[in-house]
Amino acid sequence: MEKIIRIAVQKSGRLSDDSLKLIKECGIKFYNGTGKLKSTATNFPVEFLFLRDDDIPGYVADGVADLGIVGENELVEKDKKVQTLKKLGFSKCRLSLAIPKGQNYSGISYFEGKNIATSYPKILGDYLEKKGINAEIHEISGSVEIAPSIGLAEGICDIVSSGSTLMMNGLKEVEEIFTSEAVLIANENLEGWKQEIVEKLLFRINAVQKGKSNKYVLLNAPNHALDKIISLIPGMRSPTILPLAQEGWSSVHSVLNEDQFWENIEELRAAGAEGILVVPIEKMVI
Ligand code: ATP
Ligand code: MG
Repeated sequence: MEKIIRIAVQKSGRLSDDSLKLIKECGIKFYNGTGKLKSTATNFPVEFLFLRDDDIPGYVADGVADLGIVGENELVEKDKKVQTLKKLGFSKCRLSLAIPKGQNYSGISYFEGKNIATSYPKILGDYLEKKGINAEIHEISGSVEIAPSIGLAEGICDIVSSGSTLMMNGLKEVEEIFTSEAVLIANENLEGWKQEIVEKLLFRINAVQKGKSNKYVLLNAPNHALDKIISLIPGMRSPTILPLAQEGWSSVHSVLNEDQFWENIEELRAAGAEGILVVPIEKMVI
């Protein structure tokens, strides 16, 4: 049998584009025709299963898939035994409690004895228990925001990103109860050869993620300012210094974290740096 691992990704929705983008950025090529439920990569030992996100934690726990990409909200809600290998930094959202706009919100005790509609009964139940609140949880699978206006519930607990859906339905967000992003999950009992492939994949994901959070910086500096400038952008081992055609000047090349760049930019300019270019890095291995 050919040795390939299976990775479950969302078929279509708010996780799927970024999941596939990450896989492509890892240099893994595959055919992704519309409606296809399975696809094998052509240059890496992995097969993709395209599923509803609700099913991903279960498939990975059962070993139907070895890996999966899913939101933490779905992962915690489904409560399946899997290992989380890595946070992936996309599909960020939060789960919040919301109530009709006109209501006065007094704090979490507002929900005592109330009826709350949600697709996340476990996450909400755990939260209310932790807060010591007794409320009725009404589980519905979609369009949770309309529950209060049709008299189904007095409040809701749902995914919020910008808040505009809440507003359109006459609701206001009153408590954030959970924050989520996409994570890479794995079956808990992967055989050795599968783990080796997973390690290779993780190596690539790490290189992509590091590349994204770092920038390649090029700038011109008068030679007398080089020591100061090198101390501001030390780079991976040390910056590259190349002489400019104009006497007394050098070009300095370095790599640094984007946040660090913005923190140091004023000092760099004050030290005499000019012609500063910031270039994206595709992959970074250190
Ligand atoms: P499926 O048909 O696969 O069950 P779905 O309708 O349950 O899809 P989507 O709306 O595609 O789910 O959202 C998938 C996941 O993306 C959510 O579980 C959440 O982790 C994340 N997500 C949801 N809304 C947003 C948003 N506005 N911005 C970013 N991420 C989001
Ligand atoms: Mg779903």
